[in-house]
Amino acid sequence: MDKLNKTFYIETYGCQMNTVDSEIVTSILISAGFKLVDDIKEANILLLNTCAIREKAVERVINKMRQHKGFLKSGKLEIAGILGCIPEHTGDELKAKLDFIKLQVGPDKYRTLPQLIKNIYKDRKYHEELDFDIEENYEDVTPYRSEHTNAFISVMRGCNNFCTYCVVPYVRGREKSRTVDSILDEVKNTIAQGITEITLLGQNVNSYNFEGIRFPELLQKVAEIKGMERLKFATSHPKDLTEELIDVIVKNPNISNSFHLPFQAGSNSVLKRMNRGYTIEKYLAKIKMIREKIPNIAITTDIIVGFPGETEDDFQQTVKVLKDTKFDNAFMFIYSERKNTASAKNFKDDVSKEEKSRRQQFISKLQKKIGLVELKKDVGKITEVLIESISKKRDYQYKGRTEQNRIVVFDKIEGYNIGDYAKVKIKKAEGVTLFGEIVE
Ligand code: SF4
Repeated sequence: MDKLNKTFYIETYGCQMNTVDSEIVTSILISAGFKLVDDIKEANILLLNTCAIREKAVERVINKMRQHKGFLKSGKLEIAGILGCIPEHTGDELKAKLDFIKLQVGPDKYRTLPQLIKNIYKDRKYHEELDFDIEENYEDVTPYRSEHTNAFISVMRGCNNFCTYCVVPYVRGREKSRTVDSILDEVKNTIAQGITEITLLGQNVNSYNFEGIRFPELLQKVAEIKGMERLKFATSHPKDLTEELIDVIVKNPNISNSFHLPFQAGSNSVLKRMNRGYTIEKYLAKIKMIREKIPNIAITTDIIVGFPGETEDDFQQTVKVLKDTKFDNAFMFIYSERKNTASAKNFKDDVSKEEKSRRQQFISKLQKKIGLVELKKDVGKITEVLIESISKKRDYQYKGRTEQNRIVVFDKIEGYNIGDYAKVKIKKAEGVTLFGEIVE
C-alpha cells in the first residue's frame, strides 16, 4: 500500500474497552504509514472513537464533531470519521446529523481503516464498514500504549448477556475469548515496556473461556508472570462470579484488592426486567463471600436508577443495598432508553426525568458520605502507592493509587518518579481522595 504521509488525531469516548480499541487503531494506522499527532490542528485525519451506552454520550460526540467541523475549512483537516459503538448502533442517524463525515467503522472492522482512508483520498466519497466479525480479536496487533504507568489488555470482546437496557451485545457482537498465549505474550511485552500495572478487560470477564481455560485459571497464569507488580481486572458479572476466582485473588498478593461488581438495582422485580440473571439476595451472598475471604477488599459497583416501572419502594431497596453494603465507590446512572434494546421494545420509559435525577442525586449524596467513611479508615496507615501523574491541582504533588484503587495525593520528593511505587503514610481523607506523605 503506497504511503500517504498523512497525520491523524484520535479522540476516545466511553469505556476502557474503547481506550484499548483506540490503541489498536493507532497501531494499525502507524503500521500503514500514517503519523499520529497529539494536536488536532496538525491532523489531516480526525477520528472519534465513540460510546453508545447513553443518549448523552451520543449528543456529546455530535456536538464535539460539529465543533471540529471548522478545521475542515480552515485547517489541515481533510477527513473526519467516527469509529466504535455509535456507528454500529445508529450510524444512519449520525450520518444524517453530521453530513460532512467521510467515514464510519465499527469495533470489528478497524483493520480496514488504512484502505478505507486511501479510498476516500481517491474518490472523495463516504465509506463505512459496520459488519461484525466473530473471529476478530486483534490478537496480532500490538496496541500503541497511550499511558505509561498502567495498561488495559482485553481478554475477550463482545457480550452474550443481553441485559435489557444495554446496547453492548448489539454494537460489539457475541463473546469471543482471545487465546491464552496471545494474552500472556501481550502482558510480557507490556511489562517489558516498563508498565507494571495491568488491568485485564472484558464486558464480562467471568465468561472468558478459551479451549476450556476459564478466567480464574487465566488470571493465575498472568499473576505468575515475572514483573507483574499489580494486576486488576474488570468487569465481573455477579451471576458468573465464582469462589474459585476469589481464591485466586487471595493466593496472589500482586492481584489488587479492588473489585468491581455492578448490582444495578436493589429490587428483584427490576432485576428481573433488566434480565440480570440474579436476585439481590444472591448478589449480597457473593459480596459476603468475597469479604469473608478478603476482609480489606475495596468493592465498587454500578447502579441504574429510573428503570421502567421502578417504584419508590423499588428505589428504596437500592438505597438499602447502598447503606448495608458500604461500597468504596459507585457509578450511578440514570436509565437511558436505547434503540433496539429489549427494554426499549417492551417497557414504557415511565419514570419522569425529574424523578430520575432526584433519585440519582439522592444516592450520589448518600454514597459520597459512605465512601468517605470507608476512606477515613486508611488514615494513619502506611500503604503502597503507584505514582501515576503530577497532581492537576498542585504541580509540587503526585497523584497515585493504592492497591485498593484509592486515589492518593502527596508531595513529590527527590528520587521518586511517575511509574514508581512509594510507601505513603495517609494523613487525611477528603471527598474521594486520600492525602499523605512518602515515608522512606
Ligand atoms: S453484562 Fe449486561 S450490561 Fe454488561 S455489557 Fe453485557 S449486556 Fe451490557
